Amino acid sequence: MIRVLVWCEHYQDREDEAVRAVYPEFMHNAIAGFLSEDADLSVKTATLFDENCGITDEILAETDVIIWWGHMLHHEVPDEIVDKVQEFVLNGGGFIPLHSAHFCKPFIRLMGTSCGLCVEGYGKHVINCVRPAHPINRGLPEVFELPEEEKFTEFYDVPQPDELIYISGYESGRVFRSGCAYHRGRGKVFYFQPGHESFPIYRDANIQKVIRNAVYWVAPNKD
Ligand code: ZN
Repeated sequence: MIRVLVWCEHYQDREDEAVRAVYPEFMHNAIAGFLSEDADLSVKTATLFDENCGITDEILAETDVIIWWGHMLHHEVPDEIVDKVQEFVLNGGGFIPLHSAHFCKPFIRLMGTSCGLCVEGYGKHVINCVRPAHPINRGLPEVFELPEEEKFTEFYDVPQPDELIYISGYESGRVFRSGCAYHRGRGKVFYFQPGHESFPIYRDANIQKVIRNAVYWVAPNKD
């Protein structure tokens, strides 16, 4: 059993009508919902508005993988929480920042770079797998599309991934390293780009499969 904590900022999905229309159950519950269909995953949620952001030593002791979605309020996550998440990963935990969580404090801490990127607007994503045999792409085609998504582009200021899994391409010719895998200490990190809040990205079967596979890949090696 892999124990997953889906952490969400939980601001726009509460305050912004357009986002609420897409995720009436809230974003963390949408992600936890499809993961919970897997009987081998035990899934909990936490948000910025929980006490201690829902991240305590006790909770982390019962967590194998943290999925993180944030956008507007990265700065409100206290540094003590960032310390805990960093230590969690270095000691073997898995960490999956999604979409605008490229700017979340724990990811910047773990990467050691700005994690800045460029944005081209919205439109079709063509997601190309450049590591087809990687477990994160198990059961997925080598190319799949999202009809409408926010288009992050290079330059993406992250360290060269230990394994680059996906590159997204757009009609303009611009591209983005949209699936980047890293080892940090005893733990693993997988950044995955899809998930703009006003499109139903986490309802997409391929995206759900990538995230589920990523949970298995970043999960600690345990006997
Ligand atoms: Zn976005």
